[in-house]
Amino acid sequence: MRRLLIVGNWKMHLNASQASLLVHRLQERIKIRRNIEVVLAPSMLVLQPLSLQIDRRKFRLASQNAYFHDEGAFTGEVSFTMLRELVHYGIVGHSERRHVFSEDLPMIRDKVAAAIRNEITPILCIGETKHERDEGETKQVLHDQLMTALSNLTAHEAGSIVIAYEPVWAIGHVAAKPSLIQTAVDYVRGYVRDVFNEKAAKNLRVLYGGDVAPEVVQGILSVPGVDGFLVGRSSLNYETFAGIVESAHRWQRGVPDGTPQRQAPGGTWPRDNEAGKEGE
Ligand code: PEP
Repeated sequence: MRRLLIVGNWKMHLNASQASLLVHRLQERIKIRRNIEVVLAPSMLVLQPLSLQIDRRKFRLASQNAYFHDEGAFTGEVSFTMLRELVHYGIVGHSERRHVFSEDLPMIRDKVAAAIRNEITPILCIGETKHERDEGETKQVLHDQLMTALSNLTAHEAGSIVIAYEPVWAIGHVAAKPSLIQTAVDYVRGYVRDVFNEKAAKNLRVLYGGDVAPEVVQGILSVPGVDGFLVGRSSLNYETFAGIVESAHRWQRGVPDGTPQRQAPGGTWPRDNEAGKEGE
């Protein structure tokens, strides 16, 4: 059985002392779970100090990005070679890299290859925009993103990476419905099976990302083939992130949450009833 993987992407938040405090709080709350791997992706600035602070039985580190050349005259960049032995994982092709920083398909392919070359497991993010979904292009978009990013890999390498399905319209907005996640996850595994082999499709870990909070964890983990989450905003709150890990642990033990709905001032969060409305 594949271990669950829960990755917190802190994005461009938290200076060194704030990041250290968050790790301290998370370490107090998150227990060592044999079947759950918890990964923190802080800013590049704090990877080094956090590598000395984290309890390695509880956490591993990921970079949010890195450059595909190993070294050279690339002002402002950090390479996967420099991150070797500092991080286990490297997020590649996050939608913010694709859409805000104009990273194209070949660049993402080269970053996947660079991560693997440097013994860092890529967490390849794929997903369609709202416009693409509305136009009925979701499968084509996923196909193109997978085809390019995985094009230089062997079957063994393809089976060892992590793919995060993150519909762009869901990020920071509203979690997709389990039925929709099912379709995308099936498509990803089917693609890897067809292009590589059955073993690669079985070994590959597939995450869901997009407005994950404790309330949606068990419903999404019940989707066959989902191995965990890539979490943005909720990973910056230690109670919420620890709640996601605990909910996943309870799900593994077959214990339903019964978590009360989180209340926002003036109303409930639009999760259970509204989740995925846009994707229908
Ligand atoms: C993300 O940006 O990868 C993400 C999933 O963000 P959020 O959880 O805030 O939707």
